[in-house]
Amino acid sequence: MKNDHITLVRSIASQVKDYFENKKPFHIFHGSTNSTRILAFKRSEMIDVSALNKVLAIDEKSLVATVEPNVPMDALVEATLTKGLIPKVVMEFPGITVGGGIQGGAGESSSFRYGCFNQVCTRYEMILADGKVVEATAKDKADLFYGTAGSFGTLGIITVADVQLMPAKKYVHLTYLPVMSFQEAVKVLKRTAKQDYDYIDGIMFGADHGVIIVGNLSDTVVGKVRRFTRARDPWYYLHAESIDSRAEQVTETVLLVDYLFRYDRGGFWVGRYAFEIFKVPFTKLTRALLDTFMHTRTLYQALQESGASQQHVVQDLALPLDKAVSFMEFIDANLQVYPLWLCPLKTDNRSPLQSNNINTPLVINVGVWGNQIASREAFLKANRLIETKLTELGGKKWFYAHSYYTRNEFWNSYDKQWYDNLRKKYNATSLPDVYDKISVKKEYEINLKRGATRAMWGRAKIRIID
Ligand SMILES: Cc1cc2nc3c(=O)[nH]c(=O)nc-3n(C[C@H](O)[C@H](O)[C@H](O)COP(=O)(O)OP(=O)(O)OC[C@H]3O[C@@H](n4cnc5c(N)ncnc54)[C@H](O)[C@@H]3O)c2cc1C
Repeated sequence: MKNDHITLVRSIASQVKDYFENKKPFHIFHGSTNSTRILAFKRSEMIDVSALNKVLAIDEKSLVATVEPNVPMDALVEATLTKGLIPKVVMEFPGITVGGGIQGGAGESSSFRYGCFNQVCTRYEMILADGKVVEATAKDKADLFYGTAGSFGTLGIITVADVQLMPAKKYVHLTYLPVMSFQEAVKVLKRTAKQDYDYIDGIMFGADHGVIIVGNLSDTVVGKVRRFTRARDPWYYLHAESIDSRAEQVTETVLLVDYLFRYDRGGFWVGRYAFEIFKVPFTKLTRALLDTFMHTRTLYQALQESGASQQHVVQDLALPLDKAVSFMEFIDANLQVYPLWLCPLKTDNRSPLQSNNINTPLVINVGVWGNQIASREAFLKANRLIETKLTELGGKKWFYAHSYYTRNEFWNSYDKQWYDNLRKKYNATSLPDVYDKISVKKEYEINLKRGATRAMWGRAKIRIID
């Protein structure tokens, strides 16, 4: 292990030990977030791990990258590509970090094969809440290794992760399969997840039309070569929508990195709401002119600074395979949010806090990212409706989002005894618990203009309270 890393971990561990000895809770700060809850860190209750941002080693024989937790996806991919490799799971937003991905249950279009990001990690170095530095693998401290995934940092701080890699290729061949109903979409997801694809996701543009997009890594070109990362390129969802409108099967080739981060510009499609709110025409020209501000890193900063997430229902929901249709029908009948993002995930039966820990052959992730609801009452009602329906259908939500469950409702869906025992065993009871961490407790001021302006000047931030 590199000396700088050892020194840094020792220093953080000693701060953690101080908190423990003083029986004080702390939050983990790493400089960015993809959470939609407004984060306000008290300086006196925060451990800063942002300097843990290096790729320590890439082992080409065992196909493993050893990385610090604050390495974002774009830096990780850039490093592994120098050896002709990529992680088996690469989250779609370049700014999502290794640590946040493990703790926040991140997944993406290769997750039907490999599961969520934590399921391609084979070892963690962690600082426990008492300041002790330990290693956890599937063999050693397996309860901690599996249990920490999805726990939102409530069992300790990850300081190193070993991430599994696979050979990269130059391109991804994408085929868009038109579907005409929710039933057909789920049927196609189920069928394609058993086939030999590298990537699968889907977008429903309405109840009766959408596309399931299957991909394979390749070094050859089929059809046109597409790009989605430059200002002049189309936003990916608009490109998919134009294919959807033709209702025919289309195959094309996308450069690998453009595929991996295809949803970055516009944050899938949530960036279009900024155009609506500020009454800016939503055209190819305005999107190109405003491109710098339409990448997810800036969009998330604007979200944190403006408080806008208190007016948009932004939720990712995990459904058992046979309940995904009912859930989409419910969204269609009650909220009419489109597009809906679909992503099939391999189930996880080892990590109880993970959203894909559901007893089903395949988990379907439905992304519901809706437009502005100005009334607070209507916003809360929409969130509660989703939570109630999700519980009824045996689904789970991703913890990055607003949560309004009562404590009882929450622990009816998760194993409290298992969690409490693990927290006791690893001395983590002084840390905030997962329910407290993800529940929205406070309403923040909404100031869209200030949020947008500060984000444009690169000055929007997670709030730090002295
Ligand atoms: C609109 C939208 C779309 C999304 N789409 C996708 C998607 O397509 N694919 C996908 O994978 N995900 C998606 N996400 C979710 C995203 O992956 C998760 O929110 C993820 O947790 C973000 O990671 P982060 O690096 O921003 O971490 P943060 O949000 O900062 O952190 C998440 C949690 O992890 C804890 N944590 C961070 N670092 C550490 C550490 N070193 N040790 C212990 N705990 C730590 C933090 O304290 C926090 O509780 C989406 C989210 C939104 C809002």
